[in-house]
Amino acid sequence: MKIKILGAGPAGLYFAALMKKDDPQHEITIYERNPRDATWGFGVVFSDRALEFLRADDQALYEYLTPHLENWPEITIVHNDTHIPIAGNGFSSIGRLELLTLLYAYVEKLGVKIQFDTEVNSFAQLGEADLIVAASGAFSWVRTENEDKFGATTDWRPNKFIWYGTSKPFNSLTLTFRETDAGVFCAHHYRYKPDMSTFLVEVEDATWKQAGFERMSPEDTIRYCERVFAKDLEGHPLISNNSNWRNFPAVWSERWSFDNVVLLGDALRTAHFSIGSGTRLAMEDSVALFKAFKECGTDLKAAFARFQEMRLPPMKKIWDAANVSIRWYEEMDKLVSTLTPVEFAYSYMTRTGRVSHAEVRRRDPRLATAYEALHPEVAGT
Ligand SMILES: Cc1cc2nc3c(=O)[nH]c(=O)nc-3n(C[C@H](O)[C@H](O)[C@H](O)COP(=O)(O)OP(=O)(O)OC[C@H]3O[C@@H](n4cnc5c(N)ncnc54)[C@H](O)[C@@H]3O)c2cc1C
Repeated sequence: MKIKILGAGPAGLYFAALMKKDDPQHEITIYERNPRDATWGFGVVFSDRALEFLRADDQALYEYLTPHLENWPEITIVHNDTHIPIAGNGFSSIGRLELLTLLYAYVEKLGVKIQFDTEVNSFAQLGEADLIVAASGAFSWVRTENEDKFGATTDWRPNKFIWYGTSKPFNSLTLTFRETDAGVFCAHHYRYKPDMSTFLVEVEDATWKQAGFERMSPEDTIRYCERVFAKDLEGHPLISNNSNWRNFPAVWSERWSFDNVVLLGDALRTAHFSIGSGTRLAMEDSVALFKAFKECGTDLKAAFARFQEMRLPPMKKIWDAANVSIRWYEEMDKLVSTLTPVEFAYSYMTRTGRVSHAEVRRRDPRLATAYEALHPEVAGT
């Protein structure tokens, strides 16, 4: 097949790799608007069992990527000055640019062509293609210009976030919540290489307005956030990479394809960064679309139907959990001010409704016991 892919993010790159590896006859080109060495953001995390989801389908890629990951067995919740480590929540991370660079090399070795510095704005620009894969991220024009065909919706969430990095190497994935005169500030921070960490700051809209960020310069915004998190940063600076305050778009699509066009990854749906699954979901989409083609050959209609049938149930579960998680952060001011540190950490652990008290006890008996001391009614549940 002649396959044209928009976007050299994890979704497009991994789908290209799977197809080309399976059948070198496929002619695959990826169009990427950015230069080879440019990307936004710093590191990304994989929740739970890191790249285990790849192991069964792609041992070679699993072994290729795994040595580049930073891993921790626990996360830490910081409620003002109280640090509560929570066991049983494994996370891994990698620099986004490092992950992409590894994937570029992997697909190019297989014979996939990547055209960098090439923005595609219309299907006509792609010329002849048997299959067009729109893996062009959360703001993909392919989806926004065809919303009716895809039954697509975008729910802009009210919290504001800004993605910084810092030279402080944190020892675990940490969620730090600090009360200030303007409201609660949350930082999602974790090391993704020995001397660099991601440091994403999130606030409720009222806090953002109260702090005056609307009229603040980028430099003053950094200084403000550094002051809020001075105890955590211990003198290390926050580092910008085109960092701007943004709202999170919760994207969903009822239908995933039309004609010879299919959506993949964030273009299809987004999952809030607080559950650390966006990159994994994108790569799992690629596995499912590849498997659908493996089953259905060049029958596009059948392959697209099979893709959605196979992928929807597991993906929807994570998407639903991500949307509950978003709403927990949208209540952070109330939660931080009304809960004790132990109750707050427990609330975080159980926020998606998928972790029962018994599961908290299994993962971290110390936290379960501390919570039972405050709420004896949950003991034994
Ligand atoms: C603040 C933030 C933090 C995140 N943190 C995490 C995290 O910790 N862990 C995690 O797993 N995920 C995280 N994510 C999500 C993760 O980055 C995405 O879910 C993942 O990258 C999706 O992969 P993708 O390939 O679908 O899209 P993307 O990675 O967005 O790739 C799309 C590519 O398409 C290109 N493109 C777009 N339009 C065009 C065009 N018209 N022509 C040519 N090229 C085009 C873009 O330049 C981009 O390279 C985060 C996202 C955000 C916004």
